[in-house]
Amino acid sequence: MQTKGAEGRRITASRRDFLAYLTVCPFCGEHVGPRFVTREHADVPPNPPYAASVKCPRCRELYEVLFS
Ligand SMILES: [Zn+2]
Repeated sequence: MQTKGAEGRRITASRRDFLAYLTVCPFCGEHVGPRFVTREHADVPPNPPYAASVKCPRCRELYEVLFS
């Protein structure tokens, strides 16, 4: 599984906003949401998934979205 590009590149967003595509890419401003998730992280309880790796559909940058 290739998720190396997302390491150390993190933004935070509310899960509700993310699910509604209200979260924007920190690199190009494109709206991103569940369709662009490459991996979900359920490693931190109590409400998994706690974070997701996202690949921007416009600029192709990889980063992690931490759900607040
Ligand atoms: Zn982007």
